[in-house]
Amino acid sequence: MENQTALLKKLKDLVGEAHISTHKADLLPYMRDSYTNLMNREAALPDCVLMPRSTEEIQQIVLLANEYKVPVYPRSFGVNIAGSAIPYQGGIVLDLKAMNQIFEVNEDTLTATIEPGVCWGQLRKAARKKAMDIIPIIGPYQTSPVGNYLLTNITAYSSRYSMDRAVTLEVVLPNGEILRTGSQATEIGAEVNPYFRYSYGPDLTGLFRGSMGNYGIITKMVIRLRPLAEVEKNLYFAFKELKPALKAIQRIERLEISRTVMLQNKHFTVHCLLSPEDLKDPAAKEEALRSLPDFVLAVGIGGKARQAALYEEMLGEEIRSSGGETLSLPDAFKQSLDEVQEGAGQKILRMFAPFSGYAAVIGCVPITSAENVYRRVQEIVAKFDLKDSITDDPLQHELLVVPYDRCSSVYVEQELLYDPLDIDNMEKVKACLRECYKVIVTEYGAVHTIPNRRLLERVVPGYAAILRGIKTMVDPNGILLPGGPYSI
Ligand SMILES: Cc1cc2nc3c(=O)[nH]c(=O)nc-3n(C[C@H](O)[C@H](O)[C@H](O)COP(=O)(O)OP(=O)(O)OC[C@H]3O[C@@H](n4cnc5c(N)ncnc54)[C@H](O)[C@@H]3O)c2cc1C
Repeated sequence: MENQTALLKKLKDLVGEAHISTHKADLLPYMRDSYTNLMNREAALPDCVLMPRSTEEIQQIVLLANEYKVPVYPRSFGVNIAGSAIPYQGGIVLDLKAMNQIFEVNEDTLTATIEPGVCWGQLRKAARKKAMDIIPIIGPYQTSPVGNYLLTNITAYSSRYSMDRAVTLEVVLPNGEILRTGSQATEIGAEVNPYFRYSYGPDLTGLFRGSMGNYGIITKMVIRLRPLAEVEKNLYFAFKELKPALKAIQRIERLEISRTVMLQNKHFTVHCLLSPEDLKDPAAKEEALRSLPDFVLAVGIGGKARQAALYEEMLGEEIRSSGGETLSLPDAFKQSLDEVQEGAGQKILRMFAPFSGYAAVIGCVPITSAENVYRRVQEIVAKFDLKDSITDDPLQHELLVVPYDRCSSVYVEQELLYDPLDIDNMEKVKACLRECYKVIVTEYGAVHTIPNRRLLERVVPGYAAILRGIKTMVDPNGILLPGGPYSI
């Protein structure tokens, strides 16, 4: 207790009274995210939340945390939907939203240099002023590219632009040292050339990707942007079956002309189109579902006007010969789908509407396994007799497929929606989720992008030893993110 009082005083002196809170009402929102219901894990009430404003302040906080052996949980916007930024063992929550500066937007290197509290929307506005754009997530505008890099990194642009948008990083390691990766590693590099990732041997920027913050607190990131083309447009195609739609993706990707690619089943599409109110209305939902094909393939193209016209013609041919057809949508529907396809929008928040409960079955597999992974999940959902929370009809789950790296692999996400207030049903959802993962992992080798502790038990010993060895080296007192499902 004495120790806690002394630590809180030092922290207050460091960040200033306006940037620290110990009030329960301020702390409670940091103890949950939309996924914690599914995890049977309790979080402790943290001692305080801090909103630091500089790398130096974070370094001092980390040094104090080591001295007092207190856990630290960083978060940017806390929308990770995986329960990973929660203070499982109490201590200090480091809310990084006040660090929201964009230091530079550089047309020559196609990069921006940002702090962790910069959100996708803010960065998009800054980039567009210079005829560039972000390479965003499909997900919401008000979350951070830095938090995302530490997490999943899924984008409809995955097929063409590497999802790996980070170039170089500045990081406060949990032992209090400052690390700069890539060409930022030298003084001169940090000053005049922080724009090259692959310098000085192994890729230390990559070490942080998917690390969930276990290895350090990122205070600065040089992030890739893309040039805006003269013409950019999204084309939508209809398929009755999943198999030909997947085949079409493979063929389109080999043409190397697509900017974004995303395949959805109509149960995903309808959530992007209707408002949460309409989703509660069985008649409105049924009508929208009737107007949609079973699978919608969205392809973004761009270039000079002549180029875009040619791409559109070529795509049409490819789609027709794969058994699909052009889908014309009412303007309002098209605008909603465009927003989702181009990423970092608000419409995607409807994905889980009208309730907030959802269980995500995520796995990356070769495209040839994607159909089986979908069918198997469909069978398991039917076996568990999950019901639609509004109509009580059998639950139809959402499907989203995004190709990675010119379709050498695909990201398959399937969502089971439920009403979190229906506790009995939630137990069924949890059991169903466990079985879905068991099947897709053991039968199809499906992999997730983040280092869940249980998944780490399955990897060869040397792999886990490297991840754990690095953690011990940079975090000898185990102060950063201890006790959670993703703690290394
Ligand atoms: C409807 C919806 C759709 C989504 N779609 C996508 C999608 O298409 N693609 C995708 O990739 N994700 C998606 N997400 C997930 C998520 O919103 C994004 O990944 C988002 O970018 C996370 O950013 P954040 O700022 O909220 O991260 P946070 O939740 O704050 O942080 C993520 C993790 O990193 C740690 N962390 C955060 N900042 C730092 C830092 N500076 N240093 C060290 N550790 C830190 C946290 O402790 C946590 O473990 C979606 C979410 C929703 C709700």
